[in-house]
Amino acid sequence: MSTLAEPAVQAPAHPARFFEREEDGRLRCTLCPRECLLADGQAGFCSVRENRGGAMVLLAYGKSTGYAVDPVEKKPLYHFLPGTEVLSFGTVGCNLGCRFCQNWNISKARASGRDLPTRTPRQVVDLAVAAGCPSIAFTYNDPIIWAEWAIDVAREARTRGIRTIFVTSGYVEEKAREEIFSWMDATNVDLKSFTEEFYAKVTLSHLAPVLETLEWLAREGRVWTEVTNLLIPGLNDDPGETRRLAEWLVARMGPDVPLHFSAFHPAWKMMDRPPTPPETLTRARRIAREVGLRHVYTGNVHDPEGQTTCCPRCGKAVLLRDWNTVRGNRLGPGGTCRNCGERIAGRFDA
Ligand code: SF4
Repeated sequence: MSTLAEPAVQAPAHPARFFEREEDGRLRCTLCPRECLLADGQAGFCSVRENRGGAMVLLAYGKSTGYAVDPVEKKPLYHFLPGTEVLSFGTVGCNLGCRFCQNWNISKARASGRDLPTRTPRQVVDLAVAAGCPSIAFTYNDPIIWAEWAIDVAREARTRGIRTIFVTSGYVEEKAREEIFSWMDATNVDLKSFTEEFYAKVTLSHLAPVLETLEWLAREGRVWTEVTNLLIPGLNDDPGETRRLAEWLVARMGPDVPLHFSAFHPAWKMMDRPPTPPETLTRARRIAREVGLRHVYTGNVHDPEGQTTCCPRCGKAVLLRDWNTVRGNRLGPGGTCRNCGERIAGRFDA
């Protein structure tokens, strides 16, 4: 990863959309299922959307905690422009409250009062072009909460042939979801567990809206979608839960949706748990493959076998990886297996 320098420019708060006005004058945010009700001067749970004098504003518009050039495999996306680099950025705040957040220093930072530099959508796309990146990722904190900013960058990117990637929890309202994803080319959705209890206690959110988002993405079929499941020892790594999660994905999204089992490292309010043993990831991968998923990977560990894409028809390796690095690309034209001609699920052409 390389980071890019920032200009120090400040901009006024940007008008936000995705809200309704209540009879008592409060504003109801309709971006995510929390539906925060905001009186004048109040900010939502995510900290970046605020009722300012009866108008909703997005405090994080134009802002970023920094821009970086990452391998697309780090998002993680293994079936979308493999081996390319992606201009990546995030802002501050979050609409979830995950106790294990790996990016808590930005997700729990407050937007107001922070001296974050500002860019225009055109300047962000300029950065991607200058860095030779064929795509831009909205990532590090959940871009749902800064949807207007992500959409404006995506709109500019589309006019210049740059793809966009939305890395998200999928905790979003139906109407907003349709508009946001109409501008995106690919997404990785973090399915944090397969129990409502985990979602309620550990993430302060709910499972059902996330499953709705995943089903909707599969039904629409326009945005390339991969799923991540971070396995935390003793909390969501039960083999039975892994099996139910994988069975649900096969039934509702189809066997071709790539699933990444990712290793947890102690962070923020969850320093009392050990890191995920590699064997747990390997076991989860075996279970998910048993139930019919064709592309299952391990992440945040060195595991070339668990990170290689094989042709689901003949079994030959077509994309060899170690962690986030592509070590060999044996894909044929149009993302096909050179051995048997099978088309591998994904978007492989720049
Ligand atoms: S996006 Fe933010 S303000 Fe809107 S409902 Fe969700 S947490 Fe509340």
